[in-house]
Amino acid sequence: MSSAMIVRKVTCALLVVITVLSILLAAFVVLYLKELSRDTIIEDRAEDLVQSTSDASTSTESTTPSPTDPWAVNYRIPKETLPIHYDLWLYPDLTTGEVFTGEVNVWVNVTSAITYLVLHTKYLNITETKLYQGSLPRGTSGTEVPLAQSFEYEPNEFWVMLPEDDSFIEGEYTIALKFEGNLTKNIVGFYRSIYGTGNVIATSKFQPTYARRAFPCMDEPSFKSTFKVALTKPGDQLRGTGEVTGYRALSNMDVENVTTDFPEVGLDTVFFTDSVKMVTYLACFIVTDFPQGETRQMADGKPFTVYSRAEAAHSTEYALQIGPNITDFYTEYFNISYPLPKLDMIAIPDFISGAMEHWGIITYRETNLLYDEAENSNANKQRVASVIAHEIAHMWFGNLMTVKWWDDLWLNEGFASYMEYKGIQSVESDWDMLNQFLCDDLHYVMILDAKVTSHPIVQTVNHPDEITEIFDTISYSKGASVIRMLEAFMGPEQFQSGIQAFLKRYSFDNAITKNLFDELQTFAPEGMDINGIMDTWTKQMGYPVLLVNQVDNNLEIKQQRYLSDPEANVTDDSPFGYKWDVPVTYLDAVSEVGITVQWLSRNDEKLLIPRAPEAKFVKLNRGQTGYYRVLYSDELWQDILAQLETDLTVFTSADRANLIDDAFSLAQSKLMTYKQALDLTDYLRDSERDYVPWATAKGQLITLGERIKGTLDYADWRAFMQNLTKPIFEELGWTDSANEAHTRRRLRANILDVACDVGVQSCLDEAGKRLQELIKCIQLAKNESIVRGQDFLSLLGYISGNPVGLPIVWDFLREEWEYLVDRFSLNDRYLGRLVPQITSTFKSQVKLEEMLAFFAKYPEAGAGARAREQALETVRNNIKWATDPDYLSSIKKWLEEKS
Ligand SMILES: [Zn+2]
Repeated sequence: MSSAMIVRKVTCALLVVITVLSILLAAFVVLYLKELSRDTIIEDRAEDLVQSTSDASTSTESTTPSPTDPWAVNYRIPKETLPIHYDLWLYPDLTTGEVFTGEVNVWVNVTSAITYLVLHTKYLNITETKLYQGSLPRGTSGTEVPLAQSFEYEPNEFWVMLPEDDSFIEGEYTIALKFEGNLTKNIVGFYRSIYGTGNVIATSKFQPTYARRAFPCMDEPSFKSTFKVALTKPGDQLRGTGEVTGYRALSNMDVENVTTDFPEVGLDTVFFTDSVKMVTYLACFIVTDFPQGETRQMADGKPFTVYSRAEAAHSTEYALQIGPNITDFYTEYFNISYPLPKLDMIAIPDFISGAMEHWGIITYRETNLLYDEAENSNANKQRVASVIAHEIAHMWFGNLMTVKWWDDLWLNEGFASYMEYKGIQSVESDWDMLNQFLCDDLHYVMILDAKVTSHPIVQTVNHPDEITEIFDTISYSKGASVIRMLEAFMGPEQFQSGIQAFLKRYSFDNAITKNLFDELQTFAPEGMDINGIMDTWTKQMGYPVLLVNQVDNNLEIKQQRYLSDPEANVTDDSPFGYKWDVPVTYLDAVSEVGITVQWLSRNDEKLLIPRAPEAKFVKLNRGQTGYYRVLYSDELWQDILAQLETDLTVFTSADRANLIDDAFSLAQSKLMTYKQALDLTDYLRDSERDYVPWATAKGQLITLGERIKGTLDYADWRAFMQNLTKPIFEELGWTDSANEAHTRRRLRANILDVACDVGVQSCLDEAGKRLQELIKCIQLAKNESIVRGQDFLSLLGYISGNPVGLPIVWDFLREEWEYLVDRFSLNDRYLGRLVPQITSTFKSQVKLEEMLAFFAKYPEAGAGARAREQALETVRNNIKWATDPDYLSSIKKWLEEKS
C-alpha cells in the first residue's frame, strides 16, 4: 500500500483554488506547496460509519460466551487449521448500490484434532453454515459433518463452529457459507463508490484486516490459498450486437468464462481462472461501468491495462508509458518473471489510501494514477510515477513473498518504498531520483525518529487498531532508509543477489525479517554479521549522532543517541542501550579509501581513522547512505565550509543536502550553534543550484522561521531570507519553460514557496483572503455530496497549513470531534494523524493546555494514540525552543553580524 497522499479533487476546495490560480499565482504557490510538504500527506477515509452489527450473527443455538473459551482467549486462527482454497461468489446489487450477497466454500486442512473451527467475519450476516468432509466446489454436496453450534464472537471478529462430537478430527473439510453484507458502510472491505451522475461501482480494499468484511475467511497474512472467484454483474446493455456497453467484472486473474442470465435473467456471472497461492488481503473484486482500458504489452508479452472512468481516460497515457517498463525493470532486477497472466491498474473514485497492490489488479486513488500535462504539475507527475513504481514492486516483494505477521510490515513497506526510487530511475533517468530519496523520505523520518515517542521498526502488534496504526512513516520511510543503508554497506550487487535468492526461496510463501537477513548474509563480505548489525537499527528506536574530532593525525569518532530535545526524558529501555553498529564512510577528495566501510561497533568506545595529510577537509557519511547524523569539531566544520565556498562540486548534491540537514537539526538540539548552521547559507545563496540541497534547506529554514515568527527578530529574519533567496529567485523566475529539466522545475516550485513565505506582503494578504473562503467550506464540506469522505480530512489539513486557517481548524477539530469519530471511527489512523498535523506549529503553554484538555475530554484515541503523544512532544519542544534565550540570541547575533 502506498502511504503518502496528495489529494486535489476536493470539489469545494478546488473551486476556490481555481479562483486563486486565476487571480494570484503566489497564493497558489502557498496552497500547492503545502500539498507537497510531507507534513500534509494524510490519507482519508470514511470508515466504520456503522455500528457493529451484533444482530448479524445467526446462532443455531443460543450461547453464552465465556472469556475462557479458546476462541475468546486466542485472537489468532488456531495453528491446527490451514486454509487451502476459496471457491467464492459475490453479487453486489448495483441497482440499489446497498447490499451484496455471497457464497463461499473454504477448503480447510485440520492437521490435528481441534474442538472448534473459526473464520474471520465482520459486518456480515451469515445465513447458512455447513461443514462437509473433503474438498467440495460450490454448489456440490457431500458427507455433512454435523455442527452443534455456529455463532459470531465479535471481540475477535470470529465466526465460531463447534462440533456435535468432541472434536473435529484430522482431515480435509469444506466450510460452506451463505452470507449477506452491506456496500455502504465504509470505503474498505467490499464497498460502493459513486461518481459522475450517480454511477455506482462496487470495489474492494482489504489490507490489512478487511477481507473478512467481504467474505468469511482466515484473514491473516501467513495463510496463502488459491482463489476461484465468480462475480455477478448487470447484464450487457446491448447483448447480441457484439458491443459491450454495460458493466465489467475485474479480479486478480483472467476471465475464464461468462454465464449470461445467471443466476437470473438480466444478470451475468463472470468466472475467473484459479489464482496462484496468495493471501486474503490481496484479493480484489470490482464490478464497474468503466470502459475497456487501453492495453500495452510488457516485455514478456503479457498485457498491461489501465482502467478509469470514461471522462478521465485521456489521463492514463503516462501510466501506460511507464508501467510496463517499470515492470520489466523489476523482472530483471529480481530475476523472476512477473507471476500472473496480466497486470491491470484502475483508478477508483473513492479510495482510502494512496493505492493498493492487489495482485494483478492494482487499485489507485485517481490522483495517483492519472496525469494530464495540461492540468497537473510536475510534482503530480512524480507522485504518479512514485506510486506506480511502489505498487509494482509489491507484486514480488509483498505478494510473491509475504511477511508472516504484521510485526514485520516494515519489511514489505520499507522495501517497496526504497525500490520505488530504483523503479522510477529506470524510466526517468534524469530526475535524480536516487538523491531525491533524501528530501522525500530520509530527512523527514529522521526528524520524527529523533523524538522519544518514536518506536522501533519491528514492533509487536495484535489488535486491528494497532495493526492499522503501524502503517506509518517509521515502517515506510525508516524501513526504506535502513534498507538503503544495508545496500550501501553490503555493496549493490551483493545486495541484489541476496534479494534475488530471498525472493526465490520464499516465492508463494511467507518470511520474517530474519529470513531476509540470513539470505543476504550468504552474499555479504566476510566478517559482516547482517543480523547483528541490522538488529541495532530495527529493534531499537532512534539513531546515533557521530561525534568527530581530530586527534593528532586521526579522526576520532564516537557515538551517542541523537534526540532533537537535548533534555528529553528518556524512559524507554533499549536492548542495545541506544548504541548502534554504525557503517562509517568518508569523503576527502584525495583518498579513495573513504568509500570502504569501517565500523564503529556498538561495543567500542571509539573508532580511529587516519586523516590524509593533504586532505583539505573530511566529510563523513558519504552520500548520506548511513542513517545517522555527524557532529564535527569546529575546526573540521570550518574546513567543510571553506571547501563549499571554493568548490562545491567535490561533494555530491546528496552530501551537501546531508550537511544542511544535519547542521540545522544539530543546532536545534544544541550540539551545534545556529551560527554554525547559518554559516552554510553563504554558499547556498552564491552557488547552490541543485534541487535536493535546496529542498532540504527550504524545509529547515521554514521550520526555523516558524519558530522565530512573533518575536522581535522576525523582521530581521525576513530580510535575511529575502536576501538569501533573491539571486536564485531572479534566476529561475516564475514560470517553467518548455523542455526544462524536471528537477529545475521542482527547484522553482520550492524557491517560490520560500519567497512567498518570507516575502511579498501582498501575496500573503491575498492568500489569507482566499483561505477565508476555504474555511467557509469546512461546514459545507461535511456534506458527502460536496466533498468526498476520502478528501475531508485532507481538506482540514490543508486549511490548517495556513496561519489564518489554523485556529479555525483547531476549533473545528475539538468542537466536532464526536462528529469526526462517528464518521471516520477511532480505527482511522488518518483521523488520529490530523492532531499532530494541525498542532505542529503550536508553541505556547495555552495551546499545550488546550491540547491536554481536549485529550482528557476524549481519552480514547484508537489508532491515533501514538500520534497524540508525538503531537504533545512536538509542542513541548516548540515551547522549550521559544522560551530558551540561547537559540534566539544565537540567531540574532548571527543576523547582526551579517547585516
Ligand atoms: Zn506499499
